[in-house]
Amino acid sequence: MSALTARLSRAALNMPPSGIRKYFDLAATMKDVISLGVGEPDFITPWRTREACIYALEKGQTSYTSNYGMLELRQAVVKSLERYYGLSYDPASEVLITVGVSEALDLALRAVINPGDEVLYLEPGYVSYAPTIMLAGGVPVPVPAKKAEGFAPDFAAFAAKITPRTKAVLLNYPCNPTGSTLTQDELAELARLCVAHDLLVLSDEIYSQLSYDVPHTAIATLPGMHERTITLNGFSKAYAMTGWRLGYAAAPAEIIEVMMKIHQYTMLCAPITAQKAALEALANGHDDMRDMIDEYCMRRNFFVRRLNEIGMPCHVPQGAFYAFPSIAATDLNADRFAVQLLEEEKVVVVPGDVFGPTGAGHIRCSYATALDKLAEACVRMERFVQRHRRQ
Ligand code: PLP
Repeated sequence: MSALTARLSRAALNMPPSGIRKYFDLAATMKDVISLGVGEPDFITPWRTREACIYALEKGQTSYTSNYGMLELRQAVVKSLERYYGLSYDPASEVLITVGVSEALDLALRAVINPGDEVLYLEPGYVSYAPTIMLAGGVPVPVPAKKAEGFAPDFAAFAAKITPRTKAVLLNYPCNPTGSTLTQDELAELARLCVAHDLLVLSDEIYSQLSYDVPHTAIATLPGMHERTITLNGFSKAYAMTGWRLGYAAAPAEIIEVMMKIHQYTMLCAPITAQKAALEALANGHDDMRDMIDEYCMRRNFFVRRLNEIGMPCHVPQGAFYAFPSIAATDLNADRFAVQLLEEEKVVVVPGDVFGPTGAGHIRCSYATALDKLAEACVRMERFVQRHRRQ
């Protein structure tokens, strides 16, 4: 370690680098690559949304906004949460507009965690969870999901991990990377546990609109949950707005106030350009969003059927835009599978254990990719699986 490195933050130095990066770096050096790697819509933001932003710029709207975000946008967010999920919040005091769900999650964790507090989350889970919990001074406590049951939550394991230090449960459904969502019964069971142990819930519902088989239920609508839940959501996925960096948190006013305090010192406010665009997306973007969701659903049906046909068994992901097939038919571990698939067939996937050890023996494939590319990726993966079939 150099003298300079030794002077840097130990918490940051000890954080492992994201396991996803190396595959993208490798792919960037190759031609004719099909990427099923990135967790981002392949659609560009619908024109009406982009135009609203351009118009706001033309009118010279380039200032800061309220730290909470534009009141008009908070009102629109509240309306949308009511319309889609039956949630009810006060736009004046219970909503905070943030720089993506990423910032909302970071603020929520920093607002609730005292040093050493434990935060439970289902594993495999989103790569940012453990590092952001640690940066907030907390202790990440992964709870392995039931692999054989489409990565459903294991309530016995959940209950067993609760200690006097447990402060909160961090949920993400539909889930990145497995695409699984939580059923009404599972949500009710989780809610019972949280109420019984007086736990807070940080609910990352960024993929809520991308629920293909059953309508999404927000956990904050369950008995005893509104007062202990921070609902996190945003525009990146359903509205195809990843680059705009806009999300929000909705929670009881006491929590939002503390989150806002951190936000005002670290971020001031989310960009006004993105807020103007989001306002248009919420007001008039429903049909554009529905079209994209229908397309993802059609791709999911095609892709998951093909994966099962080519010897990569895959549960049907009920939401998000990820398939999480098993690679047990091959003699490779997930890392070797991803590296060799890229080298031999030029297809980018992400090894499942990047999302925690329970993901071993699986890979994550994003089907936010055009259908013809998905079809070609399946042809390449079939060749690959046949070549590396376990003897
Ligand atoms: N939460 C989950 C589960 C995600 O998959 C992602 C992005 O991939 C994020 C949060 C980050 O979202 P945003 O772009 O709103 O910061």
